[in-house]
Amino acid sequence: MKALVLHAPGKLEVMDVDDPVPNGEWVRIKVRRVGICGTDKAFYKGTYKPLKQPIIPGHEISGIIDMVGEKAPYELIGHKVTTEINIHCRQCWYCRNGMPTHCPYRETIGISRDGGMAEYVLTRYDLIHIADDLDFDELALIEPFAAVVEMIEMEPVREGSNIAVLGIGTIGLLSIQLLKLYNPDKIIAITRPGSPKAKYAYRMGVDEVLSFEEAMEYMEKYTPEGQGFDYVVEATGSPKGLEMALKLVRPRGVIAAKSTHGSRVSFD
Ligand SMILES: [Zn+2]
Ligand SMILES: [Zn+2]
Repeated sequence: MKALVLHAPGKLEVMDVDDPVPNGEWVRIKVRRVGICGTDKAFYKGTYKPLKQPIIPGHEISGIIDMVGEKAPYELIGHKVTTEINIHCRQCWYCRNGMPTHCPYRETIGISRDGGMAEYVLTRYDLIHIADDLDFDELALIEPFAAVVEMIEMEPVREGSNIAVLGIGTIGLLSIQLLKLYNPDKIIAITRPGSPKAKYAYRMGVDEVLSFEEAMEYMEKYTPEGQGFDYVVEATGSPKGLEMALKLVRPRGVIAAKSTHGSRVSFD
């Protein structure tokens, strides 16, 4: 099959590799779409190191099951699916206590084993989600969307909150869509001036798209006593994001840290 192989930072190559074949409980997805995550970009830039190299990156995957191992249900073949990315051991303390994504023995698709930037990718059958009624673009967004849902499950948002979303990449834009369902009093997006993605943030329903400096002025004017936002989503992907989030959040407010930083983060 054709696959995009990352040999080292900055060194990506489309090449022919052996078709993967699923054994046991594993299944094969014929990939139709794959998203580019901030983590993938960090691998390419060399600010974050994959746990396997060379590696086929890609963990925001949609496609069709086209082959199954002998212990996986045969009926899965032909379904439209996406896959969870953490292949947990199912036995350790974390797995038994509902935190499989923190299993210390897990492998991660596109990070510690080959991912979806290829014609085929393997996954374990208990990790797939069938969604025959979604299109492949939507299905490829399920993985980042699940990360946003988890954020709100961990730190629920009250109705009528003042919300600031820092960064309007995939995670930022998905956060805006989900947070809008909680009827915020105000929700703003923060990005660099002139960002071509500002129009998407407006389409998702933010009140304003502002630069960080403008957001600080907005905060002083429109949040109670000018003290900050109730809920700040940090999705910049930049090591400076957390420092900005701390300036925007009110006392006892919430910062949801959603960036994968390639480098050290420091803040005052
Ligand atoms: Zn990701
Ligand atoms: Zn485990």
